[in-house]
Amino acid sequence: MLSTPYYLIDEARLLQNMEKIARLREKSGAKALLALKCFATWSAFDLMRPYMDGTTSSSLFEVRLGREKFGGETHAYSVAYGDDEIDEVVSHADKIIFNSIGQLQRFADKASGIRRGLRLNPQVSSSSFDLADPARPFSRLGEWDVARVETVMDRISGFMIHNNCENSDFSLFDRMLAQIEDRFGSLLKRAEWVSLGGGIHFTGENYPLDAFAERLKAFAGRYGVQVFLEPGEASITKSTTLEVTVLDTLFNGKHLAIVDSSIEAHMLDLLIYRESARVEPNTGPHEVMLCGKSCLAGDIFGTFRFERELKVGDRISIQDAAGYTMVKKNWFNGVKMPAIAIRQRDGSVRLVREFTYADYEQSLS
Ligand SMILES: *Cc1c(COP(=O)(O)O)cnc(C)c1O
Repeated sequence: MLSTPYYLIDEARLLQNMEKIARLREKSGAKALLALKCFATWSAFDLMRPYMDGTTSSSLFEVRLGREKFGGETHAYSVAYGDDEIDEVVSHADKIIFNSIGQLQRFADKASGIRRGLRLNPQVSSSSFDLADPARPFSRLGEWDVARVETVMDRISGFMIHNNCENSDFSLFDRMLAQIEDRFGSLLKRAEWVSLGGGIHFTGENYPLDAFAERLKAFAGRYGVQVFLEPGEASITKSTTLEVTVLDTLFNGKHLAIVDSSIEAHMLDLLIYRESARVEPNTGPHEVMLCGKSCLAGDIFGTFRFERELKVGDRISIQDAAGYTMVKKNWFNGVKMPAIAIRQRDGSVRLVREFTYADYEQSLS
């Protein structure tokens, strides 16, 4: 048995998402690019590659990883590129999407050998969390003034619009796309391709995949564009757990268990968005607050109901540890970084990466 902590990617569960993506591509004609900012664990890419068209990125390092480790179509996007990175970005990409007209004008010539696009901001989104709302007031994410965009149409062939955020409501997606069409229809008619970004929870249970596919197909037909989607969370949702072991138990009015991991170091996104981790089935009679081993007072995964009282040495699987989780792990408190393992379809578990003291030491100087 592997020693904890480790992230465990389950191939069979990952494949369920991949098969939905493949079905959507087939029915809609849309292409699907993995958003690396959500998930960049490249050991899983061999499994994912047959089901997706390539990757999209938010930086030089991501676009390079996408080209080198995933292949296929490689989209480059960044909120802002620097002079010292643009040439290398272009060398790894077959499309580059600029966040602003300023960046487009600055780098259009350097990127003249590949397709260029611009991010549009429709000023509506499905996000209820200001921190993650691309349509928040004074947002820097994309252009919204049609008249200004018209002046640069000769330099671009398409657009990227990313305004969904964990949106599992198809009718909301549909309404927002209609608003986008109302607002930007004249621009879309002049485009060859449109990426509708990520944040659409179409691999979730009960999502009306067929209606979604029809909507994308109709949109593509109406404007004569190739549609792209950039699923991050939807690609890997529910595929991965964080495996931990109980190191200590305490009672201070509540039953507490301290595990050999840390929410701040290993599941940071939950802390940022003030969400609880998930443990299944969470229906037993013994309520325990699961705590991390960093010295942060609020290093707490959540309170869960276990079948038995927890004792030192018990192992626990924390659910949904792939998206925005492995990419954000860090060395806070010097807590041992979780290894990465893959449960293959035959049930065997393959350890693909371990982190050591040397990795910690080399992360600073
Ligand atoms: C974050 C992001 C994605 C992926 O979003 P998910 O919610 O993980 O699907 C795709 N495209 C862009 C431009 C993004 O910023």
